Amino acid sequence: MKAGVVVIAEMSADGLTAASRGAISFAGLMAEAAGEDMLILVPGHFPYIDEQPCHGAGTVQYEYPPSGNGGVGIFAYNGAKEIAAGAGCDVAFLSGDHLAGYSAEAWMTALSPICGEINPRFICIPHTSRGWDYGPGLAIRLKASLIGAVEDFRRQGEDFFFKRSVLKGQWQLEVLPEKRPAILTVLPEARGTQGTALLEEARSADKRGRPPRVSFLSAPATGLRTKSLGRLPAAETTYDFSEAEVIVAAGKGIGAVENLDLIKRLAGVFPKSAVGCSRAVCDLGWMEYRRQVGLTGRTVAPSLYIACGISGAMPHLAGMRNSRCIVAVNRDINAAIFQVAHLGIREDLLTVIPAILALSEKGSNTTTQ
Ligand SMILES: Cc1cc2nc3c(=O)[nH]c(=O)nc-3n(C[C@H](O)[C@H](O)[C@H](O)COP(=O)(O)OP(=O)(O)OC[C@H]3O[C@@H](n4cnc5c(N)ncnc54)[C@H](O)[C@@H]3O)c2cc1C
Repeated sequence: MKAGVVVIAEMSADGLTAASRGAISFAGLMAEAAGEDMLILVPGHFPYIDEQPCHGAGTVQYEYPPSGNGGVGIFAYNGAKEIAAGAGCDVAFLSGDHLAGYSAEAWMTALSPICGEINPRFICIPHTSRGWDYGPGLAIRLKASLIGAVEDFRRQGEDFFFKRSVLKGQWQLEVLPEKRPAILTVLPEARGTQGTALLEEARSADKRGRPPRVSFLSAPATGLRTKSLGRLPAAETTYDFSEAEVIVAAGKGIGAVENLDLIKRLAGVFPKSAVGCSRAVCDLGWMEYRRQVGLTGRTVAPSLYIACGISGAMPHLAGMRNSRCIVAVNRDINAAIFQVAHLGIREDLLTVIPAILALSEKGSNTTTQ
């Protein structure tokens, strides 16, 4: 297996995650600029594949589209089909029952031998909580360079420079990796990750003169010292920030913890939404710190960010200013949030949000009548 650029993708029950699609697109642009082939590695548990009797010892390769391999699991097969058709590059599934639930140790153990064998120039990982978790450990095992939160790249001669922000946007750095491979965690809002995300079909398939190949590999499990027992249900039913298309964020201007209910109901109007907040809201104990957006919280870039009762202090803006559309509700016309908002509503949120909820309820009643 050979590739100059490797992407490590994450799957959810819905298929490839949005952050993975973004990392694949970014890696595709890099592969094109570097004139390298790209390979997507997907760690996970694909039970039908593990049950293949011929599979235990090592590698079984199936051409894509496969012919007569009815034993391949539908889930993995569909995932492979989606990735291979969309990205136009080879895909390898790393399968093992120890990868059924996520653990950094299991992922590093599964990924380091194959990444070491391929020895690509670049390894792109989605900048998700999972990516931050196993990425540094993988870099140590591979004696690789690691550059986190990459937004863009620039090629100069044979060198690739990677752009990232520090102090959440106050400074921008260009970093030149000095070791091969260079592991990059790719931000959701990095270059090429907006829009349709996956590369056009057959772009690189044409160059290679053969269709993308899908491989299924047994992931090594030797020497594991921990065992993941699976996921516990989340305390809240909102989407993870990196998956959410809409984030509704609460600021201190909501006035009381009881009014969080309005923010949650507003988020509930949108199908793929999450609730965020400013640090002031966390400091008051109204929401958990994992929901904080900003300098010392999460960096987000959803399609729509609705800031409710948030003043727009620089540390908050640093975490959300790259959102595609920002709507701000604030009763102070001089609030700094209006300087970054695409749509500003100068009004009391306790008036505006119930009005939006009533409109949305009316709309859904009309459609169901
Ligand atoms: C080192 C450091 C790191 C920080 N990191 C972060 C970070 O990661 N994220 C973060 O958010 N902050 C961070 N902060 C804090 C930041 O500086 C601000 O204090 C914080 O963002 C303010 O939160 P807020 O906008 O909710 O509250 P406020 O600044 O108090 O603003 C409340 C806003 O609500 C409006 N309002 C009030 N009532 C209503 C109403 N009924 N209807 C409509 N509008 C109303 C007001 O006009 C006001 O603009 C950091 C600070 C420091 C020093």
